[in-house]
Amino acid sequence: MELPFAEPWKMKVVEPLYRSSREQREQWMKDAGYNLFNLRSEQVFIDLLTDSGTGAMSQYQWSEIMLGDESYAGSSSFFKLENVIHDLFDMPYFLPTHQGRAAENVLFSALIKEGDVVPGNSHFDTTKGHIEYRRARAIDCTIDEACHTDEYHPFKGNIDLQKLEDVFKKYPKEKIPLCIITITCNTSGGQPVSMQNIGEVSSLCRKYGVLPIFDAARFAENAYFIKTREKEYTNKTIREIVKEMFSFVDGATMSSKKDAIVNIGGFIILRDKSVFQKASVFNIMYEGYLTYGGLAGRDLGALAQGLMEGTEFNYLEARIGQVAYLGKKLTEYNVPIQQPTGGHAVFVNAKEFLPNVTKEEYQAQTLAVELYLESGVRGVEIGTLMADRNPVTRENRYPTLELVRLAIPRRVYTNNHMDYVAAALANLWQRRNEIKKGFRIVSEAPILRHFTIKLERIG
Ligand SMILES: *Cc1c(COP(=O)(O)O)cnc(C)c1O
Repeated sequence: MELPFAEPWKMKVVEPLYRSSREQREQWMKDAGYNLFNLRSEQVFIDLLTDSGTGAMSQYQWSEIMLGDESYAGSSSFFKLENVIHDLFDMPYFLPTHQGRAAENVLFSALIKEGDVVPGNSHFDTTKGHIEYRRARAIDCTIDEACHTDEYHPFKGNIDLQKLEDVFKKYPKEKIPLCIITITCNTSGGQPVSMQNIGEVSSLCRKYGVLPIFDAARFAENAYFIKTREKEYTNKTIREIVKEMFSFVDGATMSSKKDAIVNIGGFIILRDKSVFQKASVFNIMYEGYLTYGGLAGRDLGALAQGLMEGTEFNYLEARIGQVAYLGKKLTEYNVPIQQPTGGHAVFVNAKEFLPNVTKEEYQAQTLAVELYLESGVRGVEIGTLMADRNPVTRENRYPTLELVRLAIPRRVYTNNHMDYVAAALANLWQRRNEIKKGFRIVSEAPILRHFTIKLERIG
């Protein structure tokens, strides 16, 4: 018979997990103000809060930690990383930062001013936060198919060219400093953007004199989808595809905590010298000197190695295969999820799951809390709480989709863990009609409120 798929790695270090009781979890959840961010990690059995900085580093990455050069300026770890970045992305300028939002802070300080608009595909929460903090506006131009969770589309992260051109026509060029292409598109379900779309968006940007920039946190997963779903790329390597993707843009911000499989780190890459020079000033002010950017030398080395491992096909096949495995199990149990599954996460459609809970009572948050109480599995709400309030009217913004994201850390959990997660959701699905009440807000921060919000049960 044909041999089944198996992961191309084995475990060398294990970390024990605590299996709590439902009574314990009820108390912990109440104490945490029904906000999953407020739980202690020991209170979580399987942690699918995020795939950010939660991956397992390889023995080669750990050896880079020992080899780290901690010189303030010009460390060998920096040049090791710079070489890898040049080879992978073919972009002349590079700035290290301590994580992805720091890269956004530095680049946007150089490019965005009050009153600007920044089109893109479902901007990530910190990206939008950094745009709105500068009194500029993010305009979502994702294709409508992204909102139809049960319809298959191979590239639901794509940008709608008509929507984008409408923005380019409506606002003068001086008001549109950049267009952000998020690969893969986290907020719409870890959905990829096709090479064709990247090319078309890039041409449109060039026609109107706007800088196309990647939010590149999951660039390698995006490349895997291009290879497996876009015919012309079947026989190209992941690294060839990556190089072509980046040939269409003028720069990128990167959260290395995702596809570079490190626990902390980020960077900016740029094609234009003058933008690089402007950004360099902010990098020194906010992050650190140009050859460390808020990271230790050892972090730079582990990042260089992680970028190489993260762009290997065998690794990506196992990683994205595990996400698809969880999606398939859930689909077998009839649990409504964003189809097809994305690169890093499965997104459960909470509106369909809990029709008896109103959007004013936060459907996705309610489902995420119920999942934790049922099983000790921690997911995250991608819904009204995360969408925040309209900065002008202070009204809740109700997004089209109410999702619970189950983000899978890289190289951390086994498929037995995935079976456990799927069974927990199947149990909830069976008694979904008994869940009728959601939550109300007790206290919240003025921006990025979901991280610290406190809630109480209604009824
Ligand atoms: C995680 C992420 C960021 C922010 O990166 P951090 O390292 O968490 O600061 C930005 N954009 C996307 C798409 C992300 O997934």
